[in-house]
Amino acid sequence: MTNNNWNQIEEREKEIAAVKVKERSKKAGRYESGWWRLYQSFKTQRLITVSDLKSMVHGHYNQPVISVYLNLDPEKVKRERKVYLSVFNALIHKELKNRQSWLLTLNKDQKQQLNEDIQTIREYLERVFAPKGLKSLVLYKSGKQLGFKFSFNIKLHHRDQVIVDNDPYILPLVSVLTKHPRVLSVFMSKDEAVFYRLHVGEWEKIERIKSFTPNEKVDHSRPGKVWRSRLSWLHRHYRKAANQIKQLFYEENFNGLVLIGAKETLKEFKEFISPSIYKKIIGTHEFPGKATERQLKDISLIVLENYAKEKESKEKQRMEEIIGQGKSITGLRGVVEAANRFLVKRLWIDGNKKEKGWVCRDHHFLSVEKGVCPYCKQELEECENICDELIEMAQIYHIDYFVFDFESKNLTPYEGTVAEVYNVQQD
Ligand SMILES: [Zn+2]
Repeated sequence: MTNNNWNQIEEREKEIAAVKVKERSKKAGRYESGWWRLYQSFKTQRLITVSDLKSMVHGHYNQPVISVYLNLDPEKVKRERKVYLSVFNALIHKELKNRQSWLLTLNKDQKQQLNEDIQTIREYLERVFAPKGLKSLVLYKSGKQLGFKFSFNIKLHHRDQVIVDNDPYILPLVSVLTKHPRVLSVFMSKDEAVFYRLHVGEWEKIERIKSFTPNEKVDHSRPGKVWRSRLSWLHRHYRKAANQIKQLFYEENFNGLVLIGAKETLKEFKEFISPSIYKKIIGTHEFPGKATERQLKDISLIVLENYAKEKESKEKQRMEEIIGQGKSITGLRGVVEAANRFLVKRLWIDGNKKEKGWVCRDHHFLSVEKGVCPYCKQELEECENICDELIEMAQIYHIDYFVFDFESKNLTPYEGTVAEVYNVQQD
């Protein structure tokens, strides 16, 4: 009888241990100031969040900060191997010229550091960076205080830019991070749970829980133990995994959950997920048996793509309603005109559309043809893609916008651009 009680206590302790999620060790720099964390990121390529970027802006830098945004058009890269190096050189040259009067206010050390930073970026682009399979590259550099790089296999919906200023320029990267949900992908089986992070195409294993599930043979070889059904072992395992998911959502600000596993396992496991997390499930995928890491990544990417497509078809409905109600302007020329007059309320853009345009960035004036700015009478500057300029304008003025990446044919009848406009009397 006593023996039995002891076993019960032992069982109870195991139950408690199963529900309790272990305290995670603090990573170096994790709770340090923003720039330090990002300096760590430079070395480890860890994924970052929008709040990391915001804390980076609030950092204090002893010298200028260089922000670099480069699209890596695979066609261009094929033609000229180091094309992005020449793009960087041209853009930094132009930026230094534009910022000449501000640069004169810097002291000797600051100037020297800026030149060293430019040289570091050049060397990185020339010797280290391999653009294979990548579509864009983001860099921030400011002496020893900030050194951060991020490469994506998606294109930035912004023009190539190099900016030298007191703070980092984060808008284009914020727009990428906001657009792409941060997903926790979990592979569940009867005796293990493996957790992965998926964000902007980057895939990283976070951790693995391995649980001991006894079978009958083990039970017979350990006489005197109270046999709880195999089910209770399983429940313990499921509960532990479910709590781990909750903890990771709390720690890493995930937006969505993907579950992969055998049909029966997933069905049982879902019972253990708390309601607040349950509604974050963006997809489940049945996969009997062991999956390789590669398979898990591919499955997760497909789930995510389907989720994005679903979102796009909902957005298409919303857009068509607005068009039906006569509250919109369609076509590039009309939308650009409405944008110039600050009449745009919401913007829908085909993310694959590329159309040459002209711009005066001082007066936020866009045009589909060559000409002069009506405000300063200066010759308009040619830009590679006017759609990127529209997106940038929308961000600056906090206009809602939506970019169709998968179902961009939705916008074909409207020349790739639709704008909901304010209902004001036209003059
Ligand atoms: Zn102007």
